[in-house]
Amino acid sequence: MCQECRTRSPLSRRTFLWGATSIALSASALSWAGQAAATITPSTAPSPDQVMKDLAAGNARHVRGVQTCTDFLANRAALAEGQHPVAIVLACADSRVAPEYVFDQAPGRLFIIRVAGNFVDEEGLASMEYAVEHLGVPVIVVLGHSSCGALTAAVAVEQKHETLPGHLPALVEHLGVPVRTALAAAPADPVAAAIRQNVVYSMERLAKERSLVSSAVSEGKVRIAGGVYDLATGDVAFMGS
Ligand SMILES: [Zn+2]
Repeated sequence: MCQECRTRSPLSRRTFLWGATSIALSASALSWAGQAAATITPSTAPSPDQVMKDLAAGNARHVRGVQTCTDFLANRAALAEGQHPVAIVLACADSRVAPEYVFDQAPGRLFIIRVAGNFVDEEGLASMEYAVEHLGVPVIVVLGHSSCGALTAAVAVEQKHETLPGHLPALVEHLGVPVRTALAAAPADPVAAAIRQNVVYSMERLAKERSLVSSAVSEGKVRIAGGVYDLATGDVAFMGS
């Protein structure tokens, strides 16, 4: 692990629970994390504020073309012992949107769920519930991006009643509510408005619809943030953070 990563992103001390089993971190993991005690506890997990500052700083480096977390060998043994991510990222499957690069984070830092159009479905929500409940992740970032093909298609379906092939209609159906909400305001740039509204819609669903995630949000354990990644500049315009 590069020294900058080690200094900037110490592994949080947090109890890792899988079923009824509590697993203490190995000596190698503790060495990597720079922690003295053997058990990770929630009390020393990073706060949502700390995580958001770290992600914003990482994105600022990404905008400048700087990637600091590139020493994959240094982390490998520790990561084999368990994972302690600090943020869940719901991102598009678009090949140009790679969250570890977007936020300059090392492997093990981000729990990433990707699907074209970055929407919340049952399986994605269940994955988030696992990360929140069992890994104690304190932040969820819904990450849209400029020129999203899925949202472009969803806007075309709504505006031009285009018919999509294969299984694409099922995917685009997930985007219908936020797209119609965005188009109702007659925006100058319908796709950009739909991309932003889709992020807002997912944030609201995660916070309000009954789940382990919304329970954690209401208890103040988890913060939901959103952002739109600009493919041209690398910048993430955050919202709700
Ligand atoms: Zn996309």
